[in-house]
Amino acid sequence: MKTKSDWAPGPELRILAAERQSAGWVVTAEAPGSGCCPTCDRQSRCRHGWYVRHLQDLPVQGAAVSLNLKVGRWRCRDPRCHRRTFTACLPLIAEPFARRTRRVSDLARLLTHAAGGRPAERLMTRLGLPQSDDTLLRSLKRYAARRQEEAPVRVVGIDDWSWRKGTTYGTILVDLERREVLDVLADRSADATSQWLAGHPEIEIVSRDRAGLYADGARQGAPQARQVADRFHLLENLRKSIEQQMSRAPRQHEPFVASDGEPLLAAGVLNRRYDQPEVMEHRLLLAAGRRAADQGRFAHLKTLQAGGASRAAIVRETGLNWRTVAKWIRLDTLPERRTMVAKTTTPDRFRVYLARRWAEGSTMGRDLLAELRPRGYTGSLTNLQRFLNPWRRAQFLAIAGLPAPRPTAPRNEPPAVPPIAAAALCIKPRGQLTEEQATKVDMLKAASAEFASMRGLVMRFRGILKGANPGKLDRWLDDALGSRIHCMRQFAIKLRQDAAAVRNAITEIWSNGQVEGQINRLKTLKRAMYGRAGIVLLRARMLSLKQVSEHTV
Ligand SMILES: [Zn+2]
Repeated sequence: MKTKSDWAPGPELRILAAERQSAGWVVTAEAPGSGCCPTCDRQSRCRHGWYVRHLQDLPVQGAAVSLNLKVGRWRCRDPRCHRRTFTACLPLIAEPFARRTRRVSDLARLLTHAAGGRPAERLMTRLGLPQSDDTLLRSLKRYAARRQEEAPVRVVGIDDWSWRKGTTYGTILVDLERREVLDVLADRSADATSQWLAGHPEIEIVSRDRAGLYADGARQGAPQARQVADRFHLLENLRKSIEQQMSRAPRQHEPFVASDGEPLLAAGVLNRRYDQPEVMEHRLLLAAGRRAADQGRFAHLKTLQAGGASRAAIVRETGLNWRTVAKWIRLDTLPERRTMVAKTTTPDRFRVYLARRWAEGSTMGRDLLAELRPRGYTGSLTNLQRFLNPWRRAQFLAIAGLPAPRPTAPRNEPPAVPPIAAAALCIKPRGQLTEEQATKVDMLKAASAEFASMRGLVMRFRGILKGANPGKLDRWLDDALGSRIHCMRQFAIKLRQDAAAVRNAITEIWSNGQVEGQINRLKTLKRAMYGRAGIVLLRARMLSLKQVSEHTV
């Protein structure tokens, strides 16, 4: 049987009375007969007076319990202390000014952290501890704002997450050793990242994706740390490069020679370092490839339509969006890709002026931007350059003496393996391929020497990532740069710029796998809050609640 002291709402409290009233139990208790001065830390038994704190406590047999706690006010007897009187601080029972005992707040926080405001409100009411959802959320947010990392952080993983995909992003930082979220930042920037990292000079390793932004942030904020490029992101970048290469139309002439760049730069056709002939050729082939793929799909749709297939059947068969199908069914020829409505952010609004200036020989994007600004253009330089690109290409082809790319004849069948699938097959090791996939890989290798050599490079790269010998990376980079495959060369150039982090990815065991897991949790929480969550609440629910688990109810 429990004794009276065991039943007390906290250590050293003496119960004076317990009375059953209509709203529940009212328990009167008394705090210990001495207090400790918060200024000089001296114990005092010299009473100045009493006051009563009203606290909500854990329920008894489903009935609410309110605790009337008599707390002493004491005199400080130390003559050197400026404080004359003080009230006893009861950290184990309740926080200053709190309306609930600590064990109730801890329970409330635990439920709010796990379930969110409204569900926690319902649970708490059912448990005999009614509190509004606003109170619950406020208390959780306050807790998260005060929370400080007590243990040193040695290995940290950084990645971004989206508020709205493609529009706004935030940053998440995870302690990879303890498998815990360290912080959630509202934005994705090198400054915010470096500021956070600078607050933790003990960090030894920073694991991150391939975005240069976090690399910059880590270089500024944690120069002492070793950076590790995430292996999954490395392979993902490689896959994307291959997909792009596979989307290109086949070459109809000899590849452009890099030395062509000099006269073209002088003629003002190329005005940026990366407007190299090779890059220009890549863009041309990519655009021609996309157009050819669209034409193939269009022809396939027309064949199906002529065969009397229904709209739904065509959508199923081609995998095209139903809107596209509905539009294409009414057309005889494939339209050009839709251009944007001319707003002041769109250079197309100023087409007449730009065409005149272009004909007069003004081809520098930056100069044209300066001229457009007073005329009301509010878009970016990038947007303007994108608009000028087709003109630049035409001029480039004319000066280089090359024919304009001929439209590829429409094929009657869609390509056997679309680029996205070919890229996925290209990076998959043979052991993981199904029989059907293996046949496709062999077919692709036989059909294209480019695919075969890309697959060779990918498998070697996978081997290097798995092995512990970073020395092999240099030879791989040389081979990739020496290949005549544009996307592989671009990939290798970027890899070389980030060589130290890539080498660390080979030798270190750390990767961003668990960060991706935490991002999944974040997305679940964000969606469960129906888009009403702000960064403060989202952060509060992502951080762990370890202090609560230490407390016994
Ligand atoms: Zn004192």
